[in-house]
Amino acid sequence: MSEIVIKKCDDYDYDNVKEGIYGILNQAQVCAKIKSGMNVVVKANLLSKKTPDQCVTTNPEVIRAVCEYIASCGAKAIITDSPAGPFNENALKAIYGATGMAMAAKNSGAQLNYDTSYKNVKLANAKTLDKIDIITSVVNADMIINVAKLKTHVMMTYTGAVKNLYGVIPGLTKAAYHMKLQEPDNFANHLIDICEFVKPDFSIIDGIHAMEGDGPNSGEKVEFGFLLGGSNPYELDSVASTMIGMKKTEVPTLVNAQKRGLVDDKNITIILDEEDEEYVAIDMDEFTEYVSILELKPFKKPKIASVNFLSGRVPKSIEKYLVEKSKSKPYFIKDKCIGCGHCVRNCPAEIIHIQDAKAVVDLSKCISCFCCHEVCPEDAVEIKVPFIAKMLFREKSGK
Ligand code: SF4
Ligand code: SF4
Repeated sequence: MSEIVIKKCDDYDYDNVKEGIYGILNQAQVCAKIKSGMNVVVKANLLSKKTPDQCVTTNPEVIRAVCEYIASCGAKAIITDSPAGPFNENALKAIYGATGMAMAAKNSGAQLNYDTSYKNVKLANAKTLDKIDIITSVVNADMIINVAKLKTHVMMTYTGAVKNLYGVIPGLTKAAYHMKLQEPDNFANHLIDICEFVKPDFSIIDGIHAMEGDGPNSGEKVEFGFLLGGSNPYELDSVASTMIGMKKTEVPTLVNAQKRGLVDDKNITIILDEEDEEYVAIDMDEFTEYVSILELKPFKKPKIASVNFLSGRVPKSIEKYLVEKSKSKPYFIKDKCIGCGHCVRNCPAEIIHIQDAKAVVDLSKCISCFCCHEVCPEDAVEIKVPFIAKMLFREKSGK
């Protein structure tokens, strides 16, 4: 039986955040697992050089509270991530500054990771790649606390605890793995393989302010008002995705985790902090009812088309054709592009180049991974849904 703890928290005022984070960690008795002198890696979501108000990265006050908690248990907290783009000291320094992590480390006494080495590790029982590179700080950690941001995601529909762990892959190697695993189900299994290797000791989702629409980099901010935590990252994602109105069948990591026996809603107990640390335990059915009573507004979905429902309904050859023709593609907005080249370096298919200080793409070889969309600092990459997909998936996209 796995427990997911949910705390209401409306803003990033540090006292409120600390109360929420300590409430979750104390309820889950995380301190009992932390031994004095341990190196505890705090895996933040530091996707790109965005400021906290842009809702792309884990908020620094959440990270600060987690790090202070670790210190209060006698261990050393090390803030870690391998953001999109090159994994080097200069890039990390810029991202730690912009995202507020430098301040979070200063205020909590935590260390910022600058070790950019990695290890090639074997993954037992992997469904995709059985040997991958993982950053050394994570491989060597005594304990890992995974602190994700709640967002929608153009390729994976949703990003929370499981997807956050893709940041243990060093820098541009992420693009190479994207190229090898182009289909959402393959990529979801790759994420699960990574999650099974990392096995975070505890996961937290920062959903105080979240992102809807075309996340994870250029969606819209939602003032959602919740912090969630649990030791099973799949079950934590199952609960969080329910809260934002997403069906399990829409989230490839949950679909595949279920097939692999890693998530079972019947096993989940949700612990709600009703008032003044009076906790109430309910099961997933009761929680679904509770969510409907709260009347939480479903998050806007990203502009991608789910093609799974075609399977078995039309002949295979037609299905293949429709799937191919319905794939969304990136659209580069010339006026917004500053020619920084982040998309060039992160495109797994190597089909983007800079011409006259603007990004130019050969879409005929595009694999629709949307890494370009994810890393663009100027929101200059939009997602274009083909007309045929709009017709086919009108009902599915909820528009
Ligand atoms: S599209 Fe975005 S990431 Fe690519 S060069 Fe232009 S501004 Fe940079
Ligand atoms: S152009 Fe963008 S979506 Fe297409 S393969 Fe390159 S990074 Fe992926």
